[in-house]
Formats: sequence, structure tokens, C-alpha cells
Amino acid sequence: MIIEAGLIDEGDARVLDNSLSIETADKMAENVVGIFQMPYALAMNFKINGKDRVIPMVTEEPSVVAAASHAAKLCLPEGFASSSTSPIMIGQIQVVGLKEPEKARDMVLKEKNRLLEHATGKDSALVKLGGGPKDLSGKIITTKRGKMLIVEILVDVRDAMGANAVNSICEHLAPEIEKITGGKVRLRILSNLAVHRLAHAKAIWKREIIGEEAIEGILDAYEFAANDEFRCATNNKGVMNGVSAVCLASGNDTRAVEAACHAYASWKGKGKYLPFAEYSKNKSGDLVGEIELPIAVGIVGGATKTHPLAQLSLKILGVKSAQELAEIMACVGLANNFAALRALSTEGINRGHMELHARNVAIAAGAKGKMVDEVAAQLAREKNVRVERAKELIYELGKKS
Ligand code: NAD
Repeated sequence: MIIEAGLIDEGDARVLDNSLSIETADKMAENVVGIFQMPYALAMNFKINGKDRVIPMVTEEPSVVAAASHAAKLCLPEGFASSSTSPIMIGQIQVVGLKEPEKARDMVLKEKNRLLEHATGKDSALVKLGGGPKDLSGKIITTKRGKMLIVEILVDVRDAMGANAVNSICEHLAPEIEKITGGKVRLRILSNLAVHRLAHAKAIWKREIIGEEAIEGILDAYEFAANDEFRCATNNKGVMNGVSAVCLASGNDTRAVEAACHAYASWKGKGKYLPFAEYSKNKSGDLVGEIELPIAVGIVGGATKTHPLAQLSLKILGVKSAQELAEIMACVGLANNFAALRALSTEGINRGHMELHARNVAIAAGAKGKMVDEVAAQLAREKNVRVERAKELIYELGKKS
């Protein structure tokens, strides 16, 4: 179907069966002894800013892809509206051993233009594309080991995730900072809390499509998460089901995005950990869902060019910039959150989830071929999704055939 739709060609399709070679894998990490495969799936029904998108997701969890696709279908024909801010990352340079940290900060700020110019020389590729170092500031933090100066440089990383790019710039600046301050530079690394690099997504789920009860249920569920951190952690995990799956499918760093989103939720709440997505009711009584996440992902750099399936995902997605990719991830995160809240606050998540999970259990019990679905269906009917019961069913079905 995706070949027919013109998203990929026959050659690309062969990559689906035989993607990462051991030779490439061996260059991606250390001590490689094999390749760990994961399901590569496509979420459907996503319309984003008026454009239809097929979305590759890599996940080991049943029901995530189905939930995203269903949530996307329920907000059609309008679909999602998304936007994003420039891909600005923060690099941090830690300076210790300063007698007068405030004075040191002022000295660094006095040389801001020269330092920015010096930093610009480090990554000419980035600068040619309109990116590169943009601003520099300094802050003092008070710690158990005394006051420290933290010099922060803002770097526009264009279509890269930017960690290596920013780290290199920080390392390049460090000797200059030491010369100016007379202090000792310790850490020189980006911050994953990318507060300037935000992706925003919004969708409206109509009352006549999803029903009043679902809307009330989701609003109650949202308030629960907004006022209880134990619920909020699980709520936000549901968002990451979608975000991380697209992140992985596109060869991006899932840990970087996860760290950023969770830290952002606390930073934005001034210490209170907030739900990633917000829900409200508009004048027509429809449900409005909105999400804003710091999504630092790339379409160049890292594993995006080394893993053949990452390349294929970008092709299927049809994205032309890192910002576009981040916006899609925000939409998928919102879709997964909506689907989870709708299921949880109405019929409960277990029915749908367990039906899909039953297939895993059937396989774990030894079912093969057609028997997987037969055993899974029976386990779900009996509401007894356990390996022991699956083994009994396999034995019974085996006797019959
Ligand atoms: P990279 O260094 O592989 O690629 C970025 C470089 O590509 C840029 O510096 C630029 O010179 C060049 N480039 C070419 N075309 C470009 C374009 N259109 N837009 C932007 N740059 C372009 O990768 P990166 O994105 O700097 O770093 C990502 C990698 O760093 C990931 O593998 C990540 O896992 C890893 N990493 C992450 C952390 C962290 O998150 N804390 C720390 C260290 C490393």
C-alpha cells in the first residue's frame, strides 16, 4: 500500500526485510554481537496542517500504534494543527574556582561578541545553513562546593539534533572562558532541557463524534494528572509511547527527548511536575487538546543517516526539516495521550490493551501461525490472558487438528 501511495519504491521496501547490517551496527555501538529487532509499524489517519502523513513507529508495546491511529481518525477531517520554534539549543560551560564569580560573569559578558565570533568559527557547515552560535549569557549557581559560573551559549542547530555540534562549540570556547575568568572550566556540554526548541500541537475532538461522556471523562482524567504526580508520571508515559516510537523509527535519541520532556514539565510548573498535554472544552462543547514539548530531533547527524530504516522513515514521513519532524512527534504524543485517557476514563484500558497483549502471551506459550490469533482471541474472551491458560489452549487446539 505504501508503494502504491508513492511513499516508497520497491527498493526501499526491501530495506524493511533486511535493514541494519552487522557491519553498520558494529560501527554504531561498541562490542556489538548481534542485532535486536523491533516491530516497525505505520500509524495511519494523521492529517497535520492539512497534509496527510503516514507515521513510522518503532515500539515493543501492543496497542500503541492502534491507539495513535484511532485518536487521529477521531479528530478528522480537520486533524492536527502544529507549529514550532527555531531549533535553538543551550550549551553550558561550568567554571569553578572563581574568587569573584559575579565579576567573572561580567568580564565574560563584556567579551560576548568576540566569544560568539570565536564560537562561529567552529562549525562552518552550520553557519552556512543559517545556524550557529546566536547568543551568550552567564549565571551564578550556589552549591555545596561554592559558587560556580555557568556560561550558556545559544546555538541554532538547524536540522541536527545538535548535541555533538553544541558540545564541540562549548569545548572550543572553554580555553577562552578560562583565559577571561582565571577560573577552571569543568563540564562543557549541551543541556537537554531545550526550552527554546518547542513543538506545539493542537486537535479538536468533536462532541458529536466522541460523545459527552468521553469528554467529561478526559477532563476529569486531566485534572487528576494535573494535581497528582503519581498519576502524572503515567499520564506522561502515555505521551512518550507515541513520541519515543517515532523518535526511534527516525533514528533519533529517545533518551534525550524523554529527559527534555520530563524536565520541561517540571521547569514549566516551577517545580511542580505537569501533564505534557492540556485539555479543555470549547464553546461548542468539543474537546480541545494541546501539547507543547521540547523536541530536539534531527534529520541529519547521529544515527539518522546510518540506520537504513531511519532514512526510510524520513522518506515515508516526507519531512524536509527537523522542525517538521518534531511537530509530527508532538501530534503523535497528543494522539496517544488522548487515546489512553479516553479508554481509561470510559471502558478502562485493559480490554483493548489485553486483546492485543494476548497475542504476545500466545506466542510466549508457543503458539505458531494461525494458532496465535485463535489462542489470543480465546484468552481475551475468557479475560484470562495468562501463559498457563494459553498453553492449555494450544494443547486442546493441537488435539483437535
Ligand atoms: P552530528 O554531529 O552527527 O551532526 C551535526 C552536524 O552536521 C552539524 O554540526 C553540521 O556540521 C552538520 N550538518 C550538515 N547538514 C546540516 C543541517 N542541515 N543542519 C544541521 N547540521 C548539519 O550530530 P548532532 O546532531 O550534533 O548530535 C546528535 C548525536 O549526539 C546523537 O547521536 C546523540 O545521541 C548524541 N549525543 C547526545 C547527547 C545528549 O543528548 N546529552 C550528548 C552527546 C551526544
